[in-house]
Amino acid sequence: MNITQPFGSTLDLIGNTPLVLLKGPSEAAGCEIWGKCEFANPGASVKDRAALYMIRDAEARGELKPGGTVIEGTAGNTGIGIALVANALGYKTVIVMPDNQSSEKMATLRALGARLVLVPPTKYADPAHFQHTSRRMAEETEGAIWAGQFDNVANRRAHIETTAPELWEQLEGRIDGFTCAAGTGGTIAGVGLGLKERDENIRIALTDPHGAALYSYYAEGELKSEGSSVAEGIGQGRITANLEGAPIDTQFRISDEEGIAWVEKLLRDEGLCLGLSSGINVAGAIALGQQLIGEGRENPRIATILCDTGFRYLSTLYNAEWLREKGLPVFDWLENDADGAANSDVD
Ligand code: PMP
Repeated sequence: MNITQPFGSTLDLIGNTPLVLLKGPSEAAGCEIWGKCEFANPGASVKDRAALYMIRDAEARGELKPGGTVIEGTAGNTGIGIALVANALGYKTVIVMPDNQSSEKMATLRALGARLVLVPPTKYADPAHFQHTSRRMAEETEGAIWAGQFDNVANRRAHIETTAPELWEQLEGRIDGFTCAAGTGGTIAGVGLGLKERDENIRIALTDPHGAALYSYYAEGELKSEGSSVAEGIGQGRITANLEGAPIDTQFRISDEEGIAWVEKLLRDEGLCLGLSSGINVAGAIALGQQLIGEGRENPRIATILCDTGFRYLSTLYNAEWLREKGLPVFDWLENDADGAANSDVD
């Protein structure tokens, strides 16, 4: 990789993220587990790619004109990506977000200059749901477009055209499986389609958190959820347009506890500070590696997505009080911090 390559614009910084071999997960699986470092995008998440593609698509269709506004309903990361891309291209941003998302995401969106509209979390069928609210606002605002990431397939095209070929090249065409969780489904469907174009034997697995309906859909053909998850940005209850025709070969259901255990180990042992969806993806990648090994595949190589930075969750996932409140295990070093025993020196 040529790291001295200069870029002509901020937008060129999106994508071409590094791929890292994850030591602990590879040892646990007994094969290579690779993580695509999507936290290295300018907006620190996988959603910068979709934001860029949806905005470029609206421009190409003639719907988004100079000085226009991009409106979106998002759990946060897509909004951050849209705000950055919109700033770079001279558009305004309005983001509608459920009010139970991390305060870091809200503060980040405000800092980037987006107008933030918070709504109470509610069922998708409720007209007050953040997605419907954002669509109505776009319809009522002059010069505005609704990005509509869930059913806008420019989202998954970003992954067909960029993430999949990057993975293929980075692994020199030797990849046996890919897995990740779905929010909109853009990543799993797009990477799945892009990789299958190159080698149809690559196994594509959906990794679903508890509380989502896709695991049972792919396992039994029925949208049905079980349990719940505190993971932000993932967990889908319907087949979005991005998920239609997604080449899902197999599926895993991963608990928050399993995901958090990997978030903890990756930070403690490998210096990677990630969000919970990344931990869930890594647990899914290990399950996929073990499945392929169980079928006799030798040294399978699995890739997954490290979706966003843990710095976005300092008040939640990395906060002992919040973890305790949710009944989740607290990382050792956070326990120490709580009674003032650690970090007492000021440098
Ligand atoms: N992880 C995080 C933290 C996210 O914000 C998202 C996007 N909602 C995803 C994973 C899932 O990505 P996708 O929308 O492409 O399914």
